[in-house]
Amino acid sequence: MRFEPPPATLRLRIDRDALTANWQALDRFSGEAQTGAAVKADCYGLGVAQCVPALRDAGAAAFFVAHWGEVAAVAAHVSSATIGVLHGVSTSAEANFARDIGGVPVINTVRQAQLWQDAGGGLCHLMVDTGINRIGLAPADIGNAAIQALNVDTLMSHLACAEEDSAENMRQLRLFRSIIPAIAHRRTSISNSAGTALGEAFACDLTRPGLALYGGKPNAGFAQHIRQVAYPQAAVLQIRHIAAGERVGYNGQFVAPAPLTTATVSLGYADGFLRARGHDASLTYQGTPLPVIGKVSMDMITLDARAAPMLREGDWLDVPFDLPQIAESSGLSQYELLTTLGHRFDRA
Ligand SMILES: *Cc1c(COP(=O)(O)O)cnc(C)c1O
Repeated sequence: MRFEPPPATLRLRIDRDALTANWQALDRFSGEAQTGAAVKADCYGLGVAQCVPALRDAGAAAFFVAHWGEVAAVAAHVSSATIGVLHGVSTSAEANFARDIGGVPVINTVRQAQLWQDAGGGLCHLMVDTGINRIGLAPADIGNAAIQALNVDTLMSHLACAEEDSAENMRQLRLFRSIIPAIAHRRTSISNSAGTALGEAFACDLTRPGLALYGGKPNAGFAQHIRQVAYPQAAVLQIRHIAAGERVGYNGQFVAPAPLTTATVSLGYADGFLRARGHDASLTYQGTPLPVIGKVSMDMITLDARAAPMLREGDWLDVPFDLPQIAESSGLSQYELLTTLGHRFDRA
């Protein structure tokens, strides 16, 4: 017998219309180029099942994940031939799996190229490192026989400073352009979300936005074009009344300055509400902000609920999720805010 759990006390609403509109906005930024979608890390924490069908229906036809373990969930919605795997193939097991499932490895090293050919090879992408010095082929290795033997769909590189107004972007683009004639390929691609705002020259044949699809704004150019996609909510577990001088939460860090009504809420750092967010943060009840007090726990936070006398156990609170704003106040990156959301939300 299988037990279906009851609805969670955490829910994450995905605004599919906003997701679609964001992809369309990035597609406009991409000009003549095709617009793909980075869907790694479970669509940056928002859920492959919720996001990939909307991106597919909007027109995306190139999807990127990092790990082979991420392919099957995406392939439930799109052809595996449209899924690029950014980490490439580091073992023969990965190369064989790639052949079996039909995902397309992004080859990053000479050794990966050899592993891929040894497994039978086939269409792949090729990542050349033009300055981030993280993963990707060194430009000097482009003439290597194992690389030249690859059947390359998309020749790609990745920008290190795309969200900044930095001379490094043009330097990387120039280096990338100098490599393009050195290997046969079908398409070129250098831009992530922020790269698409750098101008037409950066679009190449395919763009690979991630963050901005999900509501992140890597730079000011996106301000009016990108909409919030994720709306988390958490339920009140308990309402308490405490006296002045009583303490709240681990280590008794918060001391009630007056008699307080508190609300303990089903949301903690295991749900992406990291302690860095707890300072001067609020959740809202029907638009009324209720400040977080005391330390954030793994599964709970406590709020000063005096501003909402009608609040009852079981009521739902909105968790603010304007990404640029919360990144600013918490010191966390917009990427971290999305990808740490965790697995306990009911995503809908
Ligand atoms: C994650 C990733 C992207 C998407 O980047 P965003 O900044 O989220 O738009 C694009 N390309 C590569 C290689 C990536 O790793």
